[in-house]
Amino acid sequence: MKKVAIIGGGFSGTMAAVNLARLSSGPLCIQLINDKYPLGRGVAYGTRREEHLLNVAARNMSAVPDHANHFLDWLRTRVDYSDLPDPQLRETYVPRRIYGDYLRSILATYMQPIDSHHPAEIQVIEQEAIDIEFNFEGTAEISLKDGSTIEADRVLLATGNQPPCPLAEDAFTHHGYCAEPWTNWMEKIPGPAENIIVMGTGLSMIDVFLTLSEQDWQGHLIAISHNGMIPQAHFRGIEYPDFLPEEPENLGLEHLVQLLEKHCRQLQRIGENPGIVVDRLRPHTQKIWQKFELAEKQEFLKRYAARWNVIRHRIAQPIHQRVTEAITEGRLSVVRGRITGLEADGDRVCVNVLNRAGDSQQVSGGLVINCTGPKSGFSDTSVPLFQNLLQRGLIRPDELDMGIDVGADFATIDAEGNPSEFLFAIGPLMKGTLWETTAVPELRGQAMRVAQLLLDDADLVSPGHDYRISVEEEHVIEYYI
Ligand SMILES: Cc1cc2nc3c(=O)[nH]c(=O)nc-3n(C[C@H](O)[C@H](O)[C@H](O)COP(=O)(O)OP(=O)(O)OC[C@H]3O[C@@H](n4cnc5c(N)ncnc54)[C@H](O)[C@@H]3O)c2cc1C
Repeated sequence: MKKVAIIGGGFSGTMAAVNLARLSSGPLCIQLINDKYPLGRGVAYGTRREEHLLNVAARNMSAVPDHANHFLDWLRTRVDYSDLPDPQLRETYVPRRIYGDYLRSILATYMQPIDSHHPAEIQVIEQEAIDIEFNFEGTAEISLKDGSTIEADRVLLATGNQPPCPLAEDAFTHHGYCAEPWTNWMEKIPGPAENIIVMGTGLSMIDVFLTLSEQDWQGHLIAISHNGMIPQAHFRGIEYPDFLPEEPENLGLEHLVQLLEKHCRQLQRIGENPGIVVDRLRPHTQKIWQKFELAEKQEFLKRYAARWNVIRHRIAQPIHQRVTEAITEGRLSVVRGRITGLEADGDRVCVNVLNRAGDSQQVSGGLVINCTGPKSGFSDTSVPLFQNLLQRGLIRPDELDMGIDVGADFATIDAEGNPSEFLFAIGPLMKGTLWETTAVPELRGQAMRVAQLLLDDADLVSPGHDYRISVEEEHVIEYYI
C-alpha cells in the first residue's frame, strides 16, 4: 500500500489528509504527523477562548473548495447557529475554537479504518518530525524526535509559519516575559497599576486585548510596532466597476501602484473604503507576485507590505470599535518605533524603543507579550527539521528568504534547483513564492490540489471523483467574497 506522510496537522495538513482520504480510489495510508499545537486546529484554531474570533466571515470559511457552503451547513448542525437567518449566519465571525471543532469533526469523519467504502486510512502520529532521508528508490525515512522512524513514498510539508521572531535577546527570560502569545500568560496578568506591553500591533495583539477585556482587567495596555498601525475593520463592499486590465499580472509594480492609488483616491472622494481595491486584487495577487521581478518584490516588501497587511487582514467591525474606544479612553496606547531590546527591572520588563526621529524611549510593564509574528528569515531557521533539510540540500530558501522555494505543483526545489519528485509543501512555507498563502481561502485550494496531484501520481484517482480544480476555476471558487 502506498504511504503519504504529512508533516504538520494544522488546517493545511489536516485538510490535505482529508482530501487524500476522500478522493482516493484505492488503498492508501496517510500518516499525519503533528506536534506542539492541537491536531486539526493548529495555531489559529487551537485557542480555547470564546472571544478569539475568526477574522473572515463564516460564508468564506468552507474548508473544501468544491463545497462553498460546507462550513455554513456544519454551523447549522449546532444549536447556537441553527436558527440564525441565513444572511446573518453568513456574515457571522464565529469563535475560532468552533472553527477548530469543525476541522476536527471533518478529520474524524475520515479517520475510520480501511473497508470497502473507505480505501484510505489516516493515521495520526503525535511527534515532532526532525529529519527526512530519501533512498535511491525515493522512499522517505522520516526521523521523529523520540528516535523512531516512519517510511513513506511521498512527504508533504504543511508545517505552517516559522516560530515567532526571536528578539536580539534570544535568551531573554523573565517571569514577566512571554515569548509566544499562544502560551498561557493569563496567570501572569499583573494588577491594574502595572502596564501590560504587547510587542506588535497586529491580529495577535487584538487577541490579547480581547482576552484582557474579557478578564475585566483595568490596567493600561501598550502596543508597540514599527509602523504603529492596527488592523482595519471589515466593511460592506459596494458595486464598483472593474478597474483591472485583462491580465493584471503583467502590470508590474509601478503601474500597479499607480492604478491602486488612483482608485483609492476615487473611493475616498465618494466616501467609500479604499480597501475595496485590495479585495478586487485578491484573486490575482499570487499571479501578480509571481510575475514581479525580484527587485519589485523587494520594493513591495520595503514600501507597501505593512500597509497591505493592515488593509488585507481585517477584523470584525464590533471588535474594531472596542479597540478604537479603548484608544480614545486611554486604556490602550499605540507606540510607534523599533524595538531594540528588553531589560529586566526587578518584577518588571523594560522594552527599549527607538522612534523614527532616532530618540530612545523605554516602556516598562509587569507583563510583556511578544506578538511580533513569525520569524521572517528562513535560512537561519531554528527548526530542527528545516535545519536538517537545508543541510542535506533537500530544500533551499526562496529568493526572498521568506520560506522555502517551491515550484509548480508544490514540489520543493532542492539546493541545486531541481524540483523534487517526493517532497512537497503547502501553506505559509510558500510565502516568498506566492505572497498570499496564509488564510483559509488560499489554503483550502492548495490542500485539495496537492491531494489530487499526489493521487494522480499514485494512480489512485477515483473515477467517480474526477473533479479537478484548475487555477482559473479555483479563483472563481475561492474568492466568492
Ligand atoms: C491567531 C491566528 C488567527 C487566524 N485567524 C484566521 C481566520 O480567522 N481566518 C483565516 O482564514 N485564517 C486565519 N489565520 C491564518 C491561519 O494561518 C490559517 O488559517 C491556517 O490555520 C494555517 O494553518 P497551517 O496548517 O498552515 O499552519 P499551523 O496552524 O501553524 O499548523 C501547523 C502544524 O504543524 C505542526 N508542526 C510544525 N512543524 C512540525 C514538525 N516538524 N513535526 C510535527 N509537527 C509540526 C505545528 O505544531 C502545527 O500544529 C489565523 C492565523 C493566526 C495565527
